[in-house]
Amino acid sequence: MKQLESTGLQSHNSFSVTASCRRLFALEHTHDLAELKKLQLQTPLMLGAGSNILFTTDYPGDIILNRLRGRQIIDATDKHAYVRVQAGSDWHKTVLWSLKQGLSGLENLALIPGTAGAAPIQNIGAYGVEISDTLELVEVWDNKNNSARMMKAQDCQLGYRDSLFRRQPDRYWILNITLKLSRVPRLRLGYKGLKQKLDSMGVEQPQAIDVANAVCSLRNEKLPNPAQLANAGSFFKNPIIDNQLLQLLLQDHPQLPHWPQENSKSKISAAWLIEASGWKGHRTGDAGVSPDHALILINYGKASGAEVWQLAENIRSAVKNKFNLLLKAEPRIIQAN
Ligand SMILES: Cc1cc2nc3c(=O)[nH]c(=O)nc-3n(C[C@H](O)[C@H](O)[C@H](O)COP(=O)(O)OP(=O)(O)OC[C@H]3O[C@@H](n4cnc5c(N)ncnc54)[C@H](O)[C@@H]3O)c2cc1C
Repeated sequence: MKQLESTGLQSHNSFSVTASCRRLFALEHTHDLAELKKLQLQTPLMLGAGSNILFTTDYPGDIILNRLRGRQIIDATDKHAYVRVQAGSDWHKTVLWSLKQGLSGLENLALIPGTAGAAPIQNIGAYGVEISDTLELVEVWDNKNNSARMMKAQDCQLGYRDSLFRRQPDRYWILNITLKLSRVPRLRLGYKGLKQKLDSMGVEQPQAIDVANAVCSLRNEKLPNPAQLANAGSFFKNPIIDNQLLQLLLQDHPQLPHWPQENSKSKISAAWLIEASGWKGHRTGDAGVSPDHALILINYGKASGAEVWQLAENIRSAVKNKFNLLLKAEPRIIQAN
């Protein structure tokens, strides 16, 4: 495994906060895993592109950047193709590559930053589709047994921005994922705004590539590009609450956006809760809330991870005071013990 000279993490997290770790490695080949014992790693953490993590402090242990790259079709039938993607491959490039192969299933997930290996960690989702819709297999390195094994997607406990991997952080390192993609497009256009976007682009009979283009256009309009304004996408998850509680909230706040879920539950809009608590567009120093999208926290320049986290905590308290609901962070938060 290649040890990098610098242990600085600023260029390895999309919040662009300064932090360092004990040692920084790059995993470029799976055969490097055989050497792991020799390295005597301390509390190792695997990182992809760093677009869903906030370092509020230096990381006391070793960090391994997943740089396993490559993708190929490993099997195909008349209707489907099975695609294996190495964990360090760029996600958006993987989406574009799949479309070039004439495969559909990933088009709604275009332009999500990060690596393919991180995609199952929070079961990435956008525009009505989650990776769980196409994920078949995940090959992991199990740090408990120091061995690789293949896991079926249904054993990964994939849920809304959730998985077994989030619940047991650092036990499993994802080495590659296998996706079942369709050779016969079954487009998902139900998400609000997507059909209108295609109409406005003059597309009458959309193909998968048109859907990807529409998604990219919508995302470019709505979301700040981390290369220009450092952020990690949505900072809070949409709360999922019992329908009884929803009815109580709707009595006082009939405009609260909500979407039905299984088991008499509903998902409610965290962005609406934050805006209604007065935090949209708020800025303290260089840490702020996007004026366009209340879910996105931004490092406008020199904010530290601790300052971004303090802002997040203030928002959480305000929402708790007003609605008695506790927002949960979507990115992984690295804090001092
Ligand atoms: C502008 C913007 C928009 C976004 N939009 C969306 C969106 O629409 N939907 C969505 O779901 N997410 C979204 N995100 C969040 C982010 O893109 C995803 O969570 C992405 O999957 C993170 O990939 P990464 O490689 O950057 O992960 P990292 O930030 O590097 O890691 C995230 C977590 O996964 C772990 N991890 C990473 N790789 C591995 C691996 N190979 N094995 C084991 N653990 C690993 C890390 O330890 C960490 O806990 C957005 C982020 C940004 C900046």
